[in-house]
Order: sequence, then C-alpha cells, then structure tokens
Amino acid sequence: MLLADLRAEVAAVGRRLAATGLVVGTAGNVSARAGDLIAVTPSGLDYADLSAELVGVHGLDGTEAEAPLRPSSELPLHLAVYAATDAAAIVHTHSPAATATSALVDEVPAIHYQVAAFGGPVAVAPYATYGTDELAASVVAALAGRSACLLANHGAVTTGPDLQTALTRARALEWVCDVWLRAAAAGRPRLLAAEEIEKVAGKLAGYGQRPPGNS
Ligand code: 13P
Ligand code: ZN
Repeated sequence: MLLADLRAEVAAVGRRLAATGLVVGTAGNVSARAGDLIAVTPSGLDYADLSAELVGVHGLDGTEAEAPLRPSSELPLHLAVYAATDAAAIVHTHSPAATATSALVDEVPAIHYQVAAFGGPVAVAPYATYGTDELAASVVAALAGRSACLLANHGAVTTGPDLQTALTRARALEWVCDVWLRAAAAGRPRLLAAEEIEKVAGKLAGYGQRPPGNS
C-alpha cells in the first residue's frame, strides 16, 4: 500500500476530529503531503468507517495514484493550498464556533493573544460553493502568510508542517472563536491592538518545548 503510515495518520486525525466534535457526520476533510503525493480523506464517508486503505493517494495535479473511493470534494482546495504554500498537512472542519464566527466578521477578532499563533490576523475567505475552484482560490488568498483561515458561512482551514500541528491549530482556532462568541454574546468585548498581536506573533514563534531527548 502506498504511503501506508501517512494514510493511517490521516485516518486517525479524521477520527479525532469527529471524537472531539470539530466535525459532525461526514463534514470536513484532512490531507497530508509526502513529496509529489497527497493522502486525502474520501468524500462523504463517516469517519467511524475510515481506515488507512480508504484514504486515497493522489498526485499534486489531482491524478489518482491509489484511491478506492472518490476523493474529498475539497480536493481542489487541498491541491491549491499545497501549490501555494509550504504546508505538508491540511485540516478542514465545520467546527461550530469557527463556523458561527465566519458568518459574523471578515477577520477573527483579536479577543486573545492566541489569535497571533496563526501568523497574524486570521482572515475569513469570502463564501463560494463547497468543492469549487472559486472556494479554493478564496482560501489560498485568505491563507497568505497564515496557517489558518475561516471560510465564510462554511468552516475553517488550518495548515501545518505535519498533521498533528494542523490538528492542534484547528482546536486552537475553534477555542479563540468560542471565546470571542462568548464575550460578544455577553457584551462588547475589549479587543487587543494590532501592534500587540504583531508583538505576540514574534514571541510565539519561539514558544513551546519538548522533553529532553525528544527532538
Ligand atoms: P467531503 O465529504 O467531500 O470531504 O466534503 C465535506 C466538506 O466539508 C465539504 O466542504
Ligand atoms: Zn466543508
């Protein structure tokens, strides 16, 4: 089986998205890149039924390398993001707070310094029908210089150098959106200044540690 380990990891991340409530049913999709190939979740398959063999492998031009099922309808989006960025993993969710926020604003409000963890203000890509090249282009533009964006009235996309990072960012983005929605529901939240977000973005670039011996 081509890319057996990567396909197993894509399947595991898909199941994790469902288990943590970031997706419901067959919503969302996941992919990871290895060289000229990507492993991507199939379209419309419940994550509970997803196994490594059912994760398809495609070329960066979309050609099928080994895929027993139709690929995600967002394959054009995944391919466009790989073409435009150095991402090696992409997670797309319809997580509730991110989706609700995507219908309210054009940029994720700076409610907390964690919003700087995505490389700068997180943009909302203008709405386009799911699975279209128009949506793919909209997402690529919104992701410029960032590892996350919202998709208006649709959901969220996060990227990373690996699947675990893209997944962690999906959870972090959902958390920031949830905090903002709670604050905005209770009153008029005080937001952080753009200069502070910029300062924190620099600080967060060196944030995080691993245990000794775990490189
Ligand atoms: P797929 O099941 O085709 O991946 O579509 C889900 C989705 O989130 C479309 O935007
Ligand atoms: Zn979607």
